[in-house]
Amino acid sequence: MPILHLDIDAFFASVEQLRDPRLKGRPVAVGGGVVASASYEARARGVANGTPLHEARRLCPGIIVLEGRHEIYRCFTAAIWEICRRYAPALECLLDEAFCDFSGTERVYPDFLEVGRRLRREIQDEVGLAVTVGVARNRMLSKLAAKSVKPDGLRLLPEADEEPFLLSLPLEKLPGMGPKTRQIFHDMNIRSVREFREVPLRTLEGLLGKVGAALYERARGRDTRAIHEREVPRSISRETTFHRATAERGEIEGLLSYLVDRALRAARQLGLKAKTVGVKVRYSDWQQEEMSRSFPATAVDEDVHPVVRELLWKLYTRRVTLRHAGIVLSNFVPDDGQLALFDDGRLARLHAAVDAVRDKFGDGAIVAGRAIDLLSKLPKDAYGYVLRTPSLTK
Ligand SMILES: [Mg+2]
Repeated sequence: MPILHLDIDAFFASVEQLRDPRLKGRPVAVGGGVVASASYEARARGVANGTPLHEARRLCPGIIVLEGRHEIYRCFTAAIWEICRRYAPALECLLDEAFCDFSGTERVYPDFLEVGRRLRREIQDEVGLAVTVGVARNRMLSKLAAKSVKPDGLRLLPEADEEPFLLSLPLEKLPGMGPKTRQIFHDMNIRSVREFREVPLRTLEGLLGKVGAALYERARGRDTRAIHEREVPRSISRETTFHRATAERGEIEGLLSYLVDRALRAARQLGLKAKTVGVKVRYSDWQQEEMSRSFPATAVDEDVHPVVRELLWKLYTRRVTLRHAGIVLSNFVPDDGQLALFDDGRLARLHAAVDAVRDKFGDGAIVAGRAIDLLSKLPKDAYGYVLRTPSLTK
């Protein structure tokens, strides 16, 4: 039973309720544009993460909407991860959830249910937040176990119970089963994990490639993904100075597309999707402008390019050449199962192939879309275009 999954219940909303007791017991949502976190009082009225705020106000009149204060939330997660480290030899933290790897500690901790109980109590006493804990044989099962008892729950899933537990799940609970993939199976009248198990591996591979093979494994409770010590960066930015100041639309858009591709690739490597992109430009006279926008979480280049183009043409209003441009991705969410991001299997396979070639031959090996405009403009080396300022992940 070596993996323990811990998830903070209604994280941002709970922190706000903790900081302002007047909010206790009332429906609270945190977010801008869409709900990033909703209290259980709001959830009871149908408000979910991702619900547009105007919709949330319609569903739940009187809902208290707050802007997020991520510096504060970070202090809370830091305190909680510290408590986890008292017990867990390895920890992977992802925003409001963590996987604790207890492999090899069975002698030190003969009873993982007791470890879960202690963790929950210490976090409640010292930090004031409720967390839900699931313990199971692997990563996927521990998270599913926790999800089944949310909020404020604790569940240990013994190996003997795995099979009935998995078979009882509706198909959409299977990690990696995004809405589009689920629809394919719903159209075939397959709605539960039990029914999904009847589909042969070859059929799944034919339909979805690698994703199909992974789903086949997940439906059988198998998950070999390791726990990596990592933390989600606050932002990933890529920027560069033009070799010669320019006002040429194609050139600027091309450069930004290229920077978006590189930053998203870094996000994909960390198993993350971004929810916000910012564009930044500096004119030849050093005046600088910035603007950002949020959208449904994605790690797909094609989802972000149109947003970046739109921001650029909102920002770039003066008749002065540009000297410098950059993009910033932020507001990351873990890519659940690292499969959902490839909901459209075709795009997914393309990105995987492109990333593989770039890994081998450098970023310059494949240049897509508008970045092609750049080819004639920028010096290139084996690692891609020569960016004159460093990339930043912080
Ligand atoms: Mg949570």
